[in-house]
Amino acid sequence: MTQHKILVPEMDKILGTEFKILDHGFIRVVDYMGNDSSIVQAARVSYGGGTKTVNEDAGLINYLMRHKHTTPFEMCDIKFHVKMPVFVARQWIRHRTASVNEISARYSIIGEEFYIPETEEICHQAKGNKQGRDNPLEIDQAISIQTKLREQQVDAFAIYNGFLSDTTMARELARIVLPEGRYTEMYWKINLHNLLHFLHLRADKHAQQEIRVYAIKMLEIVKLWVPLAYNAFVNYRQQAVHFSALQIRKIKDMLDIEKVKTFIGQSEQEKGELKELGQILKDII
Ligand SMILES: Cc1cc2nc3c(=O)[nH]c(=O)nc-3n(C[C@H](O)[C@H](O)[C@H](O)COP(=O)(O)OP(=O)(O)OC[C@H]3O[C@@H](n4cnc5c(N)ncnc54)[C@H](O)[C@@H]3O)c2cc1C
Repeated sequence: MTQHKILVPEMDKILGTEFKILDHGFIRVVDYMGNDSSIVQAARVSYGGGTKTVNEDAGLINYLMRHKHTTPFEMCDIKFHVKMPVFVARQWIRHRTASVNEISARYSIIGEEFYIPETEEICHQAKGNKQGRDNPLEIDQAISIQTKLREQQVDAFAIYNGFLSDTTMARELARIVLPEGRYTEMYWKINLHNLLHFLHLRADKHAQQEIRVYAIKMLEIVKLWVPLAYNAFVNYRQQAVHFSALQIRKIKDMLDIEKVKTFIGQSEQEKGELKELGQILKDII
């Protein structure tokens, strides 16, 4: 039997395109493997069935996502080339389930590019969330901060370039003068399951804005690449919530359980989900 490589025309159209992120960053898809049918094909391998109708495939992918049957999603891979500030890369690299190659500042001379936030991103420290930011600072103050950031980065690069041009200092040491706002680049290859985990955390509103903008662009790419898995992810991960046992008990107290039993869903899938909800609520002591 001849086996053809799976192509996704929507992805082939954007392959190699640099999508600009922040002031000097970008994301581009270098390559991809698999599509929605690769997920269902892997899930059905046990009984030899292939791709069925789109509705059946969507139902199966929803089922897999809901019930955390994760390995079929590992059958799809994607490779990105990403350019981001170093402080973003430090957060990014915490996701250990990808394969990474980063530009070497021991080997290469670092280009003079650094991140200066837009004025609306220069915000007060959040009061409630110690890891977050609040409303923007007054515009005059924000512009003055931008100027200071720029001056400091220009100075740092002047010293770095001086080390390299005026002395024989090794690049691996000269780089230590460069700040966290400078840009770096990496190739980042990951399977769909781990990518969705990354996007769940980093496209979330609790993630830092500067990594979030990359994650949001990647989600758009996932939507082109595996639209059924993307929908399942939005419905069962991104927009779903996880309640503690205490919270569930409180919700149950507030509900009329007889009404829960008579929830009516439109589709078979909705009926199944609502029946399951009724069962969960009934089972809670
Ligand atoms: C909003 C936010 C705030 C954060 N704040 C901080 C912070 O203040 N300080 C800080 O240090 N980090 C912080 N992090 C990073 C966070 O703790 C995780 O390191 C990061 O999100 C990567 O998640 P992960 O380990 O699930 O992902 P991956 O490394 O991709 O791993 C995916 C999954 O694989 C499994 N896994 C991978 N490696 C191992 C292993 N060695 N042992 C066991 N299981 C493994 C785990 O189940 C894991 O969830 C923050 C992250 C977010 C999103």
